[in-house]
Amino acid sequence: MRVWIDQDLCTGDGLCVDHCPDVFVQLEDGIAYVAEGGVALNDPGGSGSLAWVAGRNVDDVIHAAEACPGECIFIEVERPVAEVVEPATAAA
Ligand code: SF4
Repeated sequence: MRVWIDQDLCTGDGLCVDHCPDVFVQLEDGIAYVAEGGVALNDPGGSGSLAWVAGRNVDDVIHAAEACPGECIFIEVERPVAEVVEPATAAA
């Protein structure tokens, strides 16, 4: 699972940091960013601002996204390989 924040919508209230400080940080500008390995990914809107979420943080990140007043925390979930592979067509 990966997560990113649309900084244009962030209110800077810090709820996400309260929910999961491993993944969310607030920088000097008062806006929240995602972090990976303790490093803030502060490239708003860029692909570099998509952080992997460790299994132990998944529930907290989901709760943060649900509670976010700016509705600006976006979660991307990879589909299992079995769902991506086209099903075999039955022989006639
Ligand atoms: S909870 Fe949402 S609006 Fe609040 S600081 Fe975090 S990303 Fe920004």
